Amino acid sequence: MKPAPFGYHRATSVEDAANLLSELDDAKILAGGQSLIPLMNFRLSTPAHLIDISNLPELNEIRVDDRSVTIGAAVTHTTLLKTSQVASELPLLVDAEKLIAHEVIRNRGTVCGSLAHADPAGEMTAVIRVLNGAVRTSSVEGERVIQAVDLFEGPLQSSLTETEIIVEAIFPKLGRNSASSFREVARRHGDYAVAGAVSVVDYDNARSIESARTAFLSVGPVPILISFDELLVDAKTSDLGHDEIYEFVSSQLNPQNDIHASADYRRHLAAELAWESLKACV
Ligand SMILES: Cc1cc2nc3c(=O)[nH]c(=O)nc-3n(C[C@H](O)[C@H](O)[C@H](O)COP(=O)(O)OP(=O)(O)OC[C@H]3O[C@@H](n4cnc5c(N)ncnc54)[C@H](O)[C@@H]3O)c2cc1C
Repeated sequence: MKPAPFGYHRATSVEDAANLLSELDDAKILAGGQSLIPLMNFRLSTPAHLIDISNLPELNEIRVDDRSVTIGAAVTHTTLLKTSQVASELPLLVDAEKLIAHEVIRNRGTVCGSLAHADPAGEMTAVIRVLNGAVRTSSVEGERVIQAVDLFEGPLQSSLTETEIIVEAIFPKLGRNSASSFREVARRHGDYAVAGAVSVVDYDNARSIESARTAFLSVGPVPILISFDELLVDAKTSDLGHDEIYEFVSSQLNPQNDIHASADYRRHLAAELAWESLKACV
């Protein structure tokens, strides 16, 4: 299949991209093209114009400071995966990247593109949700920060306006007394997950749990966050019980049947994966 005809515009700066996005009718941002181009090839998306931001040096940066890892909109999955400072400062990002697609796709697909695409099966949507991260956007109207909790509105639907560009994603780092773990089941390595769970557990100095939460992918219209604080706060790590976690998660998830799995199987998988990922944090 070939896409419908479209105009191609290579942006020369973020400002140029924002101006083009506001001036041109029916325009879309092109980052790695790994989600958009297949949709266009199947004519499921037929934008009149694409504005390519993939070559902008100002968007191709990863910054690490005391509080967060900030990833520019042109940074690919592969670049993130190969940045050793990210592996040491926020290894959860690398754990997630290893599960995303195949090398060829990771070489072009971008982290921010995944977030803008808002696929509830995307690993990065769950990671930014569990870390309570955010994206910084730019448009002709100005800049704003959108918290992860407010970014995802439905399958492939984000709260970005039509003229807004994600310029960077901000992933808060975990403290020394925190642990994280990512578990998912996919039919083949690199496929989108049938279900996945990414957990973060925070401890106090006596190794009692202060807070625990899991974000789920592929079990709802958006990445879903469940807090275990009411079950686990002040529990010693050895108190973590499979059945309690399983029931707690199962009662809160409402996945749908689809061609890949029944709702019941997905719910079961998600509850088991939550247990496994929490257990791996202790
Ligand atoms: C076979 C296959 C398997 C895959 N498997 C997985 C997987 O297992 N897990 C996973 O998470 N992903 C998977 N992907 C998707 C991949 O991770 C993409 O890289 C990602 O979803 C989109 O990033 P992109 O840079 O390619 O975005 P594009 O395809 O360029 O854009 C996607 C959408 O986001 C918009 N957009 C992109 N960047 C911005 C921005 N900065 N600001 C505003 N809007 C923007 C575009 O306009 C478009 O609507 C897979 C893709 C393929 C083809």
